[in-house]
Amino acid sequence: MLSVPNWLSKGALVPAATIEKVRRGGRNSGLPYAKCSMREAMILRLFNTLTGQLDPLAPSDGKALRMYACGPTVYDYGHIGNFRTFLHIDVLRRFLGLIGVSVRHVMNITDVDDKIIRNAASAGIPISQYTPPFVEAFFQDLDALRVQHPEQIARATEHIPQMVELIERLAQAGAAYKTDDGSWYFRLKSFPEYGKLSKKDLAGIADGARVDLDEYEKDSARDFALWKAAKPGEASWETSIGRGRPGWHIECSAMAMEYLGDSFDLHAGGEDLMFPHHENEIAQSETATHKPFARHWMHVRFLLVDGRKMAKSEGNFYTLRDLLLKGYRASAIRMALISVPYRHQLNFTFDGLAEATKAVERLRTFDERLRSNSFAAGENPALQALAKEAQNEFMEALANDLNTADARAAIFELVRAANTAIDDGRLLSADRDAILSVLKDFDAVFDVLEDHDDEPTRRAIEWAQGSGREAAIAPELLARESLDHEAVEALIAERIEAKKRRNFSRADQIRNELAEKGVILEDTKDGVRWKRK
Ligand code: AMP
Ligand code: ZN
Repeated sequence: MLSVPNWLSKGALVPAATIEKVRRGGRNSGLPYAKCSMREAMILRLFNTLTGQLDPLAPSDGKALRMYACGPTVYDYGHIGNFRTFLHIDVLRRFLGLIGVSVRHVMNITDVDDKIIRNAASAGIPISQYTPPFVEAFFQDLDALRVQHPEQIARATEHIPQMVELIERLAQAGAAYKTDDGSWYFRLKSFPEYGKLSKKDLAGIADGARVDLDEYEKDSARDFALWKAAKPGEASWETSIGRGRPGWHIECSAMAMEYLGDSFDLHAGGEDLMFPHHENEIAQSETATHKPFARHWMHVRFLLVDGRKMAKSEGNFYTLRDLLLKGYRASAIRMALISVPYRHQLNFTFDGLAEATKAVERLRTFDERLRSNSFAAGENPALQALAKEAQNEFMEALANDLNTADARAAIFELVRAANTAIDDGRLLSADRDAILSVLKDFDAVFDVLEDHDDEPTRRAIEWAQGSGREAAIAPELLARESLDHEAVEALIAERIEAKKRRNFSRADQIRNELAEKGVILEDTKDGVRWKRK
């Protein structure tokens, strides 16, 4: 492993070969030294499930980091566990952007699988009609959480020919066989490295024992279905390997290779996908191409609720929409779901969500304080040093396996110290600028400072009202939302007028009415500011 410092000072002269070896996978510009910005000299070290260690992550083609992340299975609305995974992949993308690494991110939509077929059948509609509302809902939810969209979205049902071709290649290699009912299976015994990702000892697998479920447990590692023969009433495609539909695992192999090539940089997903899904993807792809599939594998650990696995039957199952309808803000949910580093289990609690709400509020108030106050000209070296230290710590924490908790802590420490400095009159205009620039980097990853919370909440309410879910809307939320932005502004204007006319009882009445609806007024020397509780 190359030894490269994670942090170099701005404009430092760094042996170009050192940086390029890591960042560009071995290519060298020929220059002995390259001038790099602070950020560009950073290298992300990310845990790689395949090697079991922190490996530097860089584009192997010297251009863009090619990454594939398993997307949603669109059989229902996304739950907060799903979004924990998508949010951490977003943190990865955004941090790479911050250190100047371009990304080509592909995500699939699994729009045909066992669960979808079962649910569509019970709804009495074809899968082509069943899945689109859930696809739309998924993207709305990503937008609510401010998750950046991948460069390429790939729907399984639009890539059947690529899957069939891959199965044919496997059949030619003797690794796929057809059973009497017309289904195709992958022969595990044809891939001796099976188990190398999940590190499971699968030596005792019985040759020819088969499983046709999309998901199954470790101890039943068996030949898995590549293609399932058509069953009456189920979605199927007429193809050169027979009439049927793809298994879940072949979908991801075919689509990843279609858009990223036989070998690419990173494959990501939640920890449950490590086995069998990702293990099967490796087996299929590497058997067909004789090349390594993904070099780097990232797995996000599961979210638990109150220490238990989230399950509808346990009554502790929450979609994003459930939380929005309870009155929690999208920014707080984003903050709560990303604040625990991806390799740690996240124990989701409502106390934790309330804490995240306060944390976002604190940051926004601080940001506003810096922007709206005027500060004396000049700079205070101690505060300059503090800002630099916070920025270093923030970047270092993320470069160290995306440690969002340490990154966040560095910023909160800065907020605390800077607030005290403002109180004491020690913070000067250049210090404000230095701190705002740290906040900019912070927000390039965390993205919670600007308030975009009204829209997702309003949408969630409309969705609930339009789909017979009114009972899920918290009454306080409805009261709060009965006043839109313009209505609040109008009442505030009326209150100012009332005060001018010395009608203080009307002014107080308005303040109380707003307070009842969760709007807090703050009289400042620059006028009235308001926020929702
Ligand atoms: P699915 O829609 O079930 O295919 O899952 C979409 C993504 O969410 C996958 O990457 C899963 O691994 C991930 N996922 C599912 N449940 C959880 C959970 N409780 N915590 C974190 N990630 C999860
Ligand atoms: Zn997948």
